[in-house]
Amino acid sequence: MRYISTRGAAPVLDFGQAMMTGLARDGGLYVPQTVPVLSADDIAALAGLPYETVALRVMKPFVGGFFADDELQALLAKAYAGFGHAARAPLTQLAANHFLLELFHGPTLAFKDFAMQIIGQMMQAALARSGARITIVGATSGDTGSAAIEAFRGLPNVDVFILFPHGRVSEVQRRQMTTPTEANVHALAIEGSFDDAQARLKDMFNDFAFRDAVGLAGVNSINWARILAQVVYYFYAAVALGAPHRAVSFTVPTGNFGDIFAGYIARQMGLPVERLVIATNQNDILDRAMRTGQYRTDGVRPSLSPSMDIQVSSNFERALFDALGRDGRATAALMDDLKAGGFSLSQGVLQALRATFASGRCGEAETLATIRDTLAATGELLCPHSAVGVHVAAQHLSATPMITLATAHPAKFPDAVERACGIRPGLPPRLGDLFDRAERVTRVPNDLAALQRLIRERTGR
Ligand SMILES: *Cc1c(COP(=O)(O)O)cnc(C)c1O
Repeated sequence: MRYISTRGAAPVLDFGQAMMTGLARDGGLYVPQTVPVLSADDIAALAGLPYETVALRVMKPFVGGFFADDELQALLAKAYAGFGHAARAPLTQLAANHFLLELFHGPTLAFKDFAMQIIGQMMQAALARSGARITIVGATSGDTGSAAIEAFRGLPNVDVFILFPHGRVSEVQRRQMTTPTEANVHALAIEGSFDDAQARLKDMFNDFAFRDAVGLAGVNSINWARILAQVVYYFYAAVALGAPHRAVSFTVPTGNFGDIFAGYIARQMGLPVERLVIATNQNDILDRAMRTGQYRTDGVRPSLSPSMDIQVSSNFERALFDALGRDGRATAALMDDLKAGGFSLSQGVLQALRATFASGRCGEAETLATIRDTLAATGELLCPHSAVGVHVAAQHLSATPMITLATAHPAKFPDAVERACGIRPGLPPRLGDLFDRAERVTRVPNDLAALQRLIRERTGR
């Protein structure tokens, strides 16, 4: 399996290289040269299998021999062993034809664990072959950083540094980053905003001497291996509801478009997915683009669902690339226009996108009302992100079963949930002592040179 860049001007890579590289050198994102298709029989045979076995069958054609089957199987077993639910991604029912896929039973209580846990195992296995070491540096507004630390803690060939804005993540999120005791984990509280953290991270990647010296690697949501790991639960859930004999639709609370793009790949692989519904909060660039054809940035307004507060959805570029007939130059041109504020989608591109995707938006009051109403109607306590999904899904119900992705555990956002319904959700018992564990964190200035010095000191490189 070969991977090509959406901007058409970067080297073609194999799976291992695409996983280690992240962003392509031409600024584009890696996508498979061709998407493998599973037959209806292959899909039917997934029914009733354990999550890890479904993962092996779905991921295998993309890995292209980079891992042998038994090796990948062992990595998957390790990746998901720490989940708090035997089904890994259990499906519950909200209404006659509306289901909820609970993706929050991983170690940090958000769906990002599904991808981060296996990418940690795969990177470590690839590094162990050569004896090389890498330094993972990430910037986070909360969920990605804790998932990355949880996935890379204690791995012998990796150091992990996570920058988060001092004083601006929730206490649960902070403690998940600062309480691991392994020496390869470095939680850094930057004196600045999330945008500052992300800007310093970008500076580090653009300093090629530093990048090579410390073996810098990234695990943000544009990494192809993360998308691939997320394709699995679309198959797992659809088969549980009767695919391939019956089609299903999905609604996905969307920020960077990574999670929903995984659903698009599942559909291309032959899974009968009728509609993929993009659910946005008040930061609704994607919903506006789908309705009007105008993709224009508009600033970020902080919301009750902070993991979806984005200005631009990086992974949307992958869907655009396909809608543009896989024309790398045309994709690059639109991305250039984006730097100047936005672009218009042609009728053809808009039609291609609308053949797969629908969209909807959920404001702040609607988010709170959905948490309250869903609890009353079903007993299910939603996190604010999942509530955005449930609200939008309700406007797209049809004869086809709808599966809404629940992306985080309500206990990760206790203030919003309590405000909505008066109940303060407690952490699951396996995380119950989080508030008693000692914290270890380094305050760092918003300064590139100081950050680089600290990383070189800590890694001895
Ligand atoms: C990251 C995140 C999202 C958004 O996912 P994307 O892949 O960026 O679209 C939604 N909900 C939660 C809880 C998240 O952590």
